[in-house]
Amino acid sequence: MTERLYYSDSFLRNFSSCVTDIRELSRSDGQSVWQVALESTAFYPTSGGQPHDLGVLTAISRSGAVLEVPVTAVEEDENGEVWHQTLKPLLAGTEVKGEIDWQRRLDHMQQHSGQHLLSAIFVQQLQAPTVSFHLGETSSTIDLAVNSLAQHSLERVERIANELIAEDRAVTARKIDRSEAEVLLATGALRKLPERDGEIRLIEIANCDLNACGGTHVRSTGQIGGLLVRGVERVRQGVRVEFTCGLRAVAAARQDFSVLRRSASFLSAPRSEVPAGIERLVADAKASAKELHKLREEAATYHAVKLAVEEQIVDHLRLVRRVFTDRDTDYVKLLASRLVASVPQTVALLVSEQQGLAFVVLARSGDMEFHAGNLMKEALAARGLRGGGSPDLAQGQVPAEQSGSLLDALEAAVHKAAARTSEMA
Ligand SMILES: [Zn+2]
Repeated sequence: MTERLYYSDSFLRNFSSCVTDIRELSRSDGQSVWQVALESTAFYPTSGGQPHDLGVLTAISRSGAVLEVPVTAVEEDENGEVWHQTLKPLLAGTEVKGEIDWQRRLDHMQQHSGQHLLSAIFVQQLQAPTVSFHLGETSSTIDLAVNSLAQHSLERVERIANELIAEDRAVTARKIDRSEAEVLLATGALRKLPERDGEIRLIEIANCDLNACGGTHVRSTGQIGGLLVRGVERVRQGVRVEFTCGLRAVAAARQDFSVLRRSASFLSAPRSEVPAGIERLVADAKASAKELHKLREEAATYHAVKLAVEEQIVDHLRLVRRVFTDRDTDYVKLLASRLVASVPQTVALLVSEQQGLAFVVLARSGDMEFHAGNLMKEALAARGLRGGGSPDLAQGQVPAEQSGSLLDALEAAVHKAAARTSEMA
């Protein structure tokens, strides 16, 4: 079984060891992915919410040739063996030097230790226990078993966390027997115990928190570097709190600041006045939209009268056929309905043509008796398309190059239907 060097020294970046086992994880296109086990390792495998380390294993052959093998993932199996994923094989018995990606590890230790601190304060201040922890690429989350979380409570917890970070309290690890751990659990000194047998590893933040944990942690709270709560949302099991620690907190605050600065510059306002500026813009946009709606209604009314005047009644029918390339579909529909509502014996055959598509509206005045929806449906069906509508207004859409022939077909159908109506009359 692999000896886990990070248990006793989480600040160990370089180590020497020996390959004890190798297995092929997968193979595709002639490329194998290997998993290598070592006698001892400082590489942390993904577990307990903390992602695995990255780094390099270096082997030196008897002839002195150096082989550098990047470690792309680290996992532990159910027996507790740690497997280092590589793209090159390292045979059992090979002596290796390991080096872990320190920036990544330190970042993980800051987030993970920050989580212990944050979870402890949530229990002390709000009796809100943490039910799960996730350490993500850019931010981390804990889920609290509570129904809600007031903003002022959240800010208080964040402030206390940063006070404890400034106090630089010691963070220590020790191993105890399970029986001893069970006593601590019974007295309430320990909140949770992992189910497995054997020794229990305890992580203690001086005068603040005691936790059973196999992860890697900083040596004192000062090394967490600062904690920033980034958001809260409701989840199935309670409330999810998003936070960042250390340089991540600085990066997140820097990113937020740059968003705020750009927003302020768009508004030509000081940063503190951005919310008021946006509120004003939203109100202006609403008022403008209302005004625009009113103007479009008015324009459609006048436009309809103009079209009615331009077109004479021939054989008891005023047929207005127009194609617009500068009017949207809503306006053309509005115009068609206004036109047939304002004058009798009228049929509107209007098109809005945009981006290669023709939106066709067929509308008739109330005194005409044919079914506009059926005419549209038949004309479109002849082209393998679908569409239709009510007796007095129908619509359909065709590729722009087909709009001329569709209008011809609809116009012929309208003339036929109108002639039949006037014969009956
Ligand atoms: Zn931990």
